[in-house]
Amino acid sequence: MKLLLLVVLVWTASDEASAGGIMMSITFLLLLIIGTSNAQYKNVALQGRPTQSSNAGWLSTGQNAIDGNTDSLYLHGSCFSTNFELSPWWRLDLLKSYKISHILITNRGDCCETFINGAEILIGDSLANNGNNNPRCASVSSIGLGGTGTFQCNDMKGQYVNIGLPGRLGFLTFCEVQVFVSSKNIPTNNNPAQGSANANANANANANVNVNIYSRAKQQPKGQKGGSSRK
Ligand code: CA
Repeated sequence: MKLLLLVVLVWTASDEASAGGIMMSITFLLLLIIGTSNAQYKNVALQGRPTQSSNAGWLSTGQNAIDGNTDSLYLHGSCFSTNFELSPWWRLDLLKSYKISHILITNRGDCCETFINGAEILIGDSLANNGNNNPRCASVSSIGLGGTGTFQCNDMKGQYVNIGLPGRLGFLTFCEVQVFVSSKNIPTNNNPAQGSANANANANANANVNVNIYSRAKQQPKGQKGGSSRK
């Protein structure tokens, strides 16, 4: 829609312009296209190192949750699952501390839709209790079968992202976790393509998902839950 509006504006200007004006309009349009194509958020999960409380088998390693593939069919080998156990958890070491904008979790699509319900997303720099004592970004109420939920963390800072089911006996299973950091919060040497970042727009630039907004733990009483889903 934004691009369409720009085209209309340029067309109007060009219609009344001289040849020089037309060239200026084309140049203006190209600059705008280049400007709007800059990524505003980067998925830093892809470079992280996962650890988990247990691993259900060779098809369900923790690495499958950050392989860049949101395929939600377990037998395709891109999902993660723990064993059936008490308080299962999965942790991602981002290798350094980031201000995390939002996190996407893709749920299992072949079964087990409700297994993710009640999962807590934690962010912090502590490894105490395997990172499961870090502050909470959000709780998952539900994500549709094979859907992707978006959880706003509002620049919570941390090197570790935990997803777990504290106090619950069950499987923890999902197919992809994406951890997005605003390009303005990524050092230039890691992001040579950094351009004009706009933190107020395009929160879903990298995934076509429905969004429910979650509050940070500091703004959300313990126990309050939210959720989103897409099928
Ligand atoms: Ca995956």
